[in-house]
Amino acid sequence: MLKRIAVTSAVALALGGVVSLASLDDTGSVALAPQALPPAPPSDVDPELAAAAAEAPKDQQVPQQVATAALPPAPTKAPLSVDPVERRHVSVGRGDTLMQVLMDGGVPADNAQNAVSALSAVYDVRRMKAGQGITVLFDHSEGDKFIGLEFQPAAERAVSVAFNGSRYQARQIDKPLEKKLVAARGRITSSLSEAASAAGVPYPVLDAFIKRYAYDVDFQRDLQPGDTFEILFERYYTPEGEAARDGDIQFASLTLSGKEKAIYRYQAAGGTADYYNALGESIRRAILRTPIDGARVTSGYGMRMHPVLGYSKMHKGKDFGAPVGTPIYAAGDGVVEQAGPFSSYGNYVRLRHGNQMETAYGHMSRIAKGLRAGMRVAQGEVIGYVGATGRATGPHLHFEVLRGNQQINPDSKEAKIEAGRKLDGKDMRQFQTIVAQDQEAFRDMQEGTTMVAAKLGAGHVVQAAVKRH
Ligand SMILES: [Zn+2]
Repeated sequence: MLKRIAVTSAVALALGGVVSLASLDDTGSVALAPQALPPAPPSDVDPELAAAAAEAPKDQQVPQQVATAALPPAPTKAPLSVDPVERRHVSVGRGDTLMQVLMDGGVPADNAQNAVSALSAVYDVRRMKAGQGITVLFDHSEGDKFIGLEFQPAAERAVSVAFNGSRYQARQIDKPLEKKLVAARGRITSSLSEAASAAGVPYPVLDAFIKRYAYDVDFQRDLQPGDTFEILFERYYTPEGEAARDGDIQFASLTLSGKEKAIYRYQAAGGTADYYNALGESIRRAILRTPIDGARVTSGYGMRMHPVLGYSKMHKGKDFGAPVGTPIYAAGDGVVEQAGPFSSYGNYVRLRHGNQMETAYGHMSRIAKGLRAGMRVAQGEVIGYVGATGRATGPHLHFEVLRGNQQINPDSKEAKIEAGRKLDGKDMRQFQTIVAQDQEAFRDMQEGTTMVAAKLGAGHVVQAAVKRH
């Protein structure tokens, strides 16, 4: 659903107003259709009318007019009907610089240059996306002088540049966002993505849901028609009630052939947020067996004739042959214990995971930029690149799994032991409160006070509700 760009002329930038220029599509990204601009609104719009328009229902498919700042009192000596400020709407095309866009919009080069340089104090213009709408302001009472510009890079953020009489000044206004929880529930009839979309689950949330369950569920094979899911996720709203972006999944449940698997997000004392089952056990599984894509095993764990030393020696890791520069991933969540050159290992990284488990990575061509001892890494994060530093005959990753400081066979059962944690004590008590709250959120939804239900064909009922945390 692409809502058309919405423009209001209710508040002039020179008066300190902030104007909302874009609405959101369902995924939370700004959807702009610069080719479908409504005709420029008349410059004598009554502020009260604009304010009324701002209160119109948000789900209408008409361009919304939203004035986001308190309207200043109308100036007495300059009636709005002869508003000297002209607002010209331009949009950034692919590959355009802001300078070009402003000049194409009629701004003299030196003014455009000054405005862009003022803007850089609050906004990185290189981050401006194609399709971004910009309102350019000219003052007819001063010989069509360019007096500023304004745009909204995100629903919760407005950026403006205004001429203050002597120079251009930029400012950024972040609106306070309110977090609400969205509960969605669905029954899979043909595909999970179809059911999720019908239940109002945006793709990034579904993607996170699939990733969370990937330790446990094979989404290609395990799903059956009739299986159900529930997802409780955060959504952030602007003060106008506009959805700005989605946040984390708080709770999810997947019922496969009648068997329910529920996961809950919890941040343990001194740790990062993670997902746990109802028993308070981390859902993360053993470290990855292959911390690299598309590599072949060139040497396993065990006794072998050493390729460089030329005599039989215990090989305490597993070698993956891969071209120089192939990314190497952290095999599990953990903390960097060592990152740098280390004897015959060359460029070496060692990570500490839970349960006395560690992994080590040798012969890297280089270590990922900024990776240092003490840093926390997530499973799958790039920690370095394949090389042949140290004692190596050719480019490969030498991968070790250690338990209690001893190398073990990465393919052994011992190495598959869960690297996650189990909550206990105070953490467990707090976690149980959260479990009860999340379950209550879904019970409320079933009771139907705030529920929006949609029937989508026989046996295909999905529900979605918005509830304040
Ligand atoms: Zn090796």
